Amino acid sequence: MHSVSDAEAIILNLVQPLDNQQDTEIVDLLAAHGRILATPVTSLLDFPHWDNSAMDGYAVRYEDVQHSSLEQPAVLEIVTEIPAGSQPNSTIQPGQAARIFTGAVIPPGADTVVMQEKTRREDNNVFILTTPKPQEFVRHQASFYKAGTPLIPAGIKLNAPEIAVLAAAQCPQLRVYRRPRVAIFSTGDELTTLEQPLQPGQIVDSNQYALATLVKECGAEPLMLGIVKDELVDLEQTITQAVANADLVISSGGVSVGDYDYIDKILETLGAKTHICAVKMRPGKPLTVATFPNSHSPLYFGLPGNPAAVLVTFWRFVQPAIKKLSGLAGGWKPKFVKTRWRDQLRLDGKRETYIWGSLHLIDGVYEFHQAGSSQSSGNLINLAQTNALAILPMGKTLIDSQEEVQVLQIEIL
Ligand code: AMP
Ligand code: MG
Repeated sequence: MHSVSDAEAIILNLVQPLDNQQDTEIVDLLAAHGRILATPVTSLLDFPHWDNSAMDGYAVRYEDVQHSSLEQPAVLEIVTEIPAGSQPNSTIQPGQAARIFTGAVIPPGADTVVMQEKTRREDNNVFILTTPKPQEFVRHQASFYKAGTPLIPAGIKLNAPEIAVLAAAQCPQLRVYRRPRVAIFSTGDELTTLEQPLQPGQIVDSNQYALATLVKECGAEPLMLGIVKDELVDLEQTITQAVANADLVISSGGVSVGDYDYIDKILETLGAKTHICAVKMRPGKPLTVATFPNSHSPLYFGLPGNPAAVLVTFWRFVQPAIKKLSGLAGGWKPKFVKTRWRDQLRLDGKRETYIWGSLHLIDGVYEFHQAGSSQSSGNLINLAQTNALAILPMGKTLIDSQEEVQVLQIEIL
């Protein structure tokens, strides 16, 4: 049985990211939101495109104003006015200045901007009441970005800041990774759909809905293959179909030690190599991770059936795998924050324990509130509003009040 951190390392090592040539598509800039850039973007534009003013004021020649002061101001003739968006039409000669506004192009001859507040205007003359620094308030061409150098690297998720930069660089379309396809199915003779009236002994297949939502939250495309009975032939058919059509496969149920838990057996029959069959964690102990001999075949995750175990193992292991698969250059692992445990808790210490609940930022300090009622992995109802998992290390039998505890913050991607 693997520790959680060993299992995480094994899984991330097995994931082959999508190909940065074949597994890509071109999308419009706005449609690129949330997608992963597949090709680095380089711009042919300098930023700023021209030397321009950082202030409303006067563009001057530094040598004309280098001894200016309140008592002995330099007096310059205003020969032109340059609003933002216009092109200067004259060169500033000794003794001259241009009225200029923020963002406007610095005229030839001028090299420094004096802010309006440090000047006094009389008719066509401006009195400079201070000595500026040489080149003050000039934003120089290419000082933020030089044309031809890397602008945005590949493997970055495109959110509003990146979209803004790409818009400014006049990139109407971008090459992004296609969405990974993730096949999902549920196993169990007790399962039925949410439309069917329940027969005695049946439960609704909620895992498929949970998994489809989780997969979509990761920016991937779920292929929902439905409910499969605990029958060898049916399971084998579905697994074969899933493996042929997806980049990653997730099943729930059938990986424990019960008489009808067939997944591991079928994977073996299909020639798969099992890398993980159990993890020292609660919930989520019976977790299967397998690969198939064909190098293009997807990674297979056999999650346990219990709804809480499905969520916990997805957040802990499957989400990082999908992130790496999707072409993200890094940041695959979950994010942890430190909190103080509120009430004393005793546990058996045999496995790393994941307690679900919610994280609150109170006066700048994170507080974890355990979900009320039972933390049994069979309990589905108190999962609602979970946004964090407290992690209680293996070997610890007592968590004291005020003890520091790591909490996995669930990212809504
Ligand atoms: P298993 O891992 O197949 O032994 O399933 C463990 C338990 O999880 C079962 O007894 C069911 O109560 C529950 N379960 C299994 N599959 C699902 C599912 N798709 N949706 C909701 N609960 C499930
Ligand atoms: Mg089952």
